[in-house]
Amino acid sequence: MSDCLFCRIAAGEIPANVVARTADAMAFHDINPQAPTHVLVIPTEHVAGPADLVAPGRERVAGSLLQFAAQVAHQLGLVATGYRLVLNQGVDGGQSVGHVHVHVLGGRRMTWPPG
Ligand code: 5GP
Ligand code: ZN
Repeated sequence: MSDCLFCRIAAGEIPANVVARTADAMAFHDINPQAPTHVLVIPTEHVAGPADLVAPGRERVAGSLLQFAAQVAHQLGLVATGYRLVLNQGVDGGQSVGHVHVHVLGGRRMTWPPG
């Protein structure tokens, strides 16, 4: 989608600080980090949000996205101390970009419940 921010980042039209890339996903540093490490993991294919992962055939996207997020956390050295994965959906979820993304947050102790 040409008007989608994360599609444009995936296409290289908007620069990002890229951490890792696969054939169908990429990871880059969040522009407004909420933790010492804050990386976003996205599928290259446009999927609007977690709610759209219910569509037929999307289990492959969902699975590879989660596995890639775990790989990125490992690559960033977060496994020993721990990390948090977050997916926001819609207004109540606090989603601000309409292209599904996994937040990988680490480097500090997280609190619960989330705000
Ligand atoms: P959401 O609020 O939708 O769950 O998360 C969207 C995230 O995208 C936010 O954490 C925000 O800081 C990040 N973000 C928004 N615009 C950009 C951008 O242009 N580049 C990067 N790297 N991150 C962005
Ligand atoms: Zn998109």
